[in-house]
Amino acid sequence: MGFLGSKLGLGMPSDLLGAVIVWGTGTNACYMEDMSNIDMVEGDEGRMCINTEWGAFGEDGSLEDIRTEFDREIDLGSINPGKQLFEKMISGLYMGELVRLILLKMTRAGLLFRGEKSSALYTKGKIETRHVAAMEKYKEGLQNTREILTELGLEPSEEDCVAVQHVCTIVSFRSANLCAAALAAILTRLRENKKLTRLRTTVGMDGTLYKTHPQYPKRLHKVVRKLVPNCDVRFLLSESGSAKGAAMVTAVAGRVQAQRKLIDEVLSLFQLTRGHLVSVKNKMRAEIDYGLKKETQPLATVKMLPTYVCAMPDGTEKGKYLALDLGGTNFRVLLVKISSGRRSVRMYNKIFAIPLEIMQGTGEELFDHIVHCIADFLDYMGIKGASRLPLGFTFSFPCKQAGLDKGILVEWTKGFKATDCEGEDVVDMLREAIKRRNEFELDIVAVVNDTVGTMMTCGYENPDCEIGLIAGTGSNVCYMEEMRNIELVEGNEGKMCINTEWGGFGDNGCLDEIRTQYDTEVDEGSLNPGKQRYEKMTSGMYLGEIVRQILIDLTKHGLLFRGQISERLRTRGIFETKFLSQIESDGLALLQVRRILQQLGLDSTCEDSIVVKEVCGAVSRRAAQLCGAGLAAIVEKRREDRNLEHLKITVGVDGTLYKLHPHFSRILRETVKELAPQCDVTFMLSEDGSGKGAALITAVAKRLHLKREN
Ligand code: ADP
Ligand code: MG
Repeated sequence: MGFLGSKLGLGMPSDLLGAVIVWGTGTNACYMEDMSNIDMVEGDEGRMCINTEWGAFGEDGSLEDIRTEFDREIDLGSINPGKQLFEKMISGLYMGELVRLILLKMTRAGLLFRGEKSSALYTKGKIETRHVAAMEKYKEGLQNTREILTELGLEPSEEDCVAVQHVCTIVSFRSANLCAAALAAILTRLRENKKLTRLRTTVGMDGTLYKTHPQYPKRLHKVVRKLVPNCDVRFLLSESGSAKGAAMVTAVAGRVQAQRKLIDEVLSLFQLTRGHLVSVKNKMRAEIDYGLKKETQPLATVKMLPTYVCAMPDGTEKGKYLALDLGGTNFRVLLVKISSGRRSVRMYNKIFAIPLEIMQGTGEELFDHIVHCIADFLDYMGIKGASRLPLGFTFSFPCKQAGLDKGILVEWTKGFKATDCEGEDVVDMLREAIKRRNEFELDIVAVVNDTVGTMMTCGYENPDCEIGLIAGTGSNVCYMEEMRNIELVEGNEGKMCINTEWGGFGDNGCLDEIRTQYDTEVDEGSLNPGKQRYEKMTSGMYLGEIVRQILIDLTKHGLLFRGQISERLRTRGIFETKFLSQIESDGLALLQVRRILQQLGLDSTCEDSIVVKEVCGAVSRRAAQLCGAGLAAIVEKRREDRNLEHLKITVGVDGTLYKLHPHFSRILRETVKELAPQCDVTFMLSEDGSGKGAALITAVAKRLHLKREN
């Protein structure tokens, strides 16, 4: 028999254990099976609804002893010979045909209608199930039979009518008997699963044959009770049988549907229409334009910070550079050796953790820690004595720059909160910390946003790369803008890279229409409430938190974890974004999802796991779509600024969310394609991250500097 796990076990009324349908067109049944008996789905606890697809019973030959020549004839003339053999003996679709074939044979043998056939009797489909039902009707049945046969062009005698009625009864009775026998098998199994001597249960029934045939239900009930005397079965007629023939849905009573509806309502808050996405794209475009204009820049939520990076590497860069990468999670120190000509780069690096107390301590402590890590690295590489190495500092927070080596921190984002830094020049702070330590000297050439570093790294290999995208702890983009559009910087020639800081998009309320209560809760619990609203809907630091907020809400409504909100679930940060990646990976068995949840301390049933997976999918999908809508605004702007019908452009990308989530990158790319159809966008992964980019920017600056000096 076929098999199909269904998710409708959720909260099924305890005594409703199965459902049978006998449609005009088919027959099927489902029932609640113990998980321990379902080998195809991992996990041993609880129950799951199994869709038996019992119509296929007999395909292995097991019904040959009772199939008749009429059954074989019907099968051979069907569109699927050899298939659905049980169904062909039961369902309404074949019942009239069976009667017709029997009548034809009897007439040929001279047993009916004085041996006189009519063309209708030879025509496939002329006798339908509704005819069979009408002929078997109590009282009017005989009269109905006469009328139907006359309509078929036959001239029935009184005896003919009685005989035809008898044929109908035999055929429909056999159907009810077979159906009852199969149902009895399921009931026996249920009783044995539950180790009961007596099983009390309800079976939901549906289907046109069951509902419209005058005798069918009574016969079926009677036979079931005869076959399984140790089961007390109540038959419940489903009132809302959907024409889709979904046995599951009819089986499961209203309560389950109501729960499902609530879950769907929550999930639908995260489903963005094309209209929503187009609107996000347009609003992003408007904010970009505000951010570029002197007059509106102070109020713009997308800050559009000039970076003073104006040239891409041309391959002639060379030398040894130090790079720092302070992002969301780790701090890296790198030594980057660039050889000219072959565009080859060798890197050595060490990763250091930034303890939480330092991220959120004082600015001096933070920069002393950074310099301590640099000292450690220089020792490790044995180059502490080297003369003033040029250094590029990747600093992935919004900075107002007045030059390549000047960066005033606008405000902390992500998890950082160190005091006395906002409004200060981070390059000065680094220089002072180096002086305080007084062990080595460095030539700080550039402060670089991680998006810019990523764009540079990719641009080193691919000159089409004009955009840098980060989808990691945070979310941000930079791109090459025409100087004439950048009102904040003098000059109209050439291009300059703009760090959009698009994470702040929506801080003026323009995304409120699509923000949910869960987004608000995540925002309110963050270090910077009200800020970075777009980032909080799209980046790794927050996606897990959004999921956690939804799970809490569903649990409050009794839709998850048996309605119990555990201490674990209440703990901020337990649901990391990496768990979304794990839970959403394709082909993960339910048990594995459950195991992940159990490791998190969330005791879940199989049904819970399915719901959690759906929640994760809805949250990550929305994130990727929103990110795609933003990116579409930028590539479209580039196309328009260059007056092109079609634009070919490459986006350099970095960030663990983009790299490791199973669906994020695909949905992001699809969204860009959909919303910017005139742009041919290639995504290029930046393998070595933004540290290499910082070294390249430093190298380009050194090259240009040398050129000026000569
Ligand atoms: P950063 O953005 O801090 O420079 P990354 O690009 O490595 O560094 O991003 C780290 C962030 O990515 C983590 O904070 C976490 O939110 C997210 N993350 C970590 N592992 C995964 C994963 N397997 N799938 C999706 N996101 C992840
Ligand atoms: Mg990074």
